[in-house]
Amino acid sequence: MSCPKCGSRDISIMAGEPIMFRCASCGHQWPALSLRPGYVKLGESQFHWTDVEITKEKMMIMAVELLRKGSSMDEAITKVAALNQVAKLLPRSEVERLVKTAMNVYEVKPQ
Ligand SMILES: [Zn+2]
Repeated sequence: MSCPKCGSRDISIMAGEPIMFRCASCGHQWPALSLRPGYVKLGESQFHWTDVEITKEKMMIMAVELLRKGSSMDEAITKVAALNQVAKLLPRSEVERLVKTAMNVYEVKPQ
């Protein structure tokens, strides 16, 4: 999970009613709406946050492999976004951000 405002992953959970998430980087707060503990909502479905984070890691690794094989960034984004059920529900802007993060982390550039 990352902050919807600044993208930081430094998120803390504040106990209360409703339970709130708080970003340690920018201070943005948002409610964790009627979720089971540890679950995040994507579309109409709820997924455990670890599944979402694992999917994001897989997406970044897949993006790097595609870019290294000569895919354009658009191709990489489209393929990565279709990886699995979690990936399909992520907003395109989030997928694009993940691909860009992967490019920075692994220092690859689209051909
Ligand atoms: Zn933030």
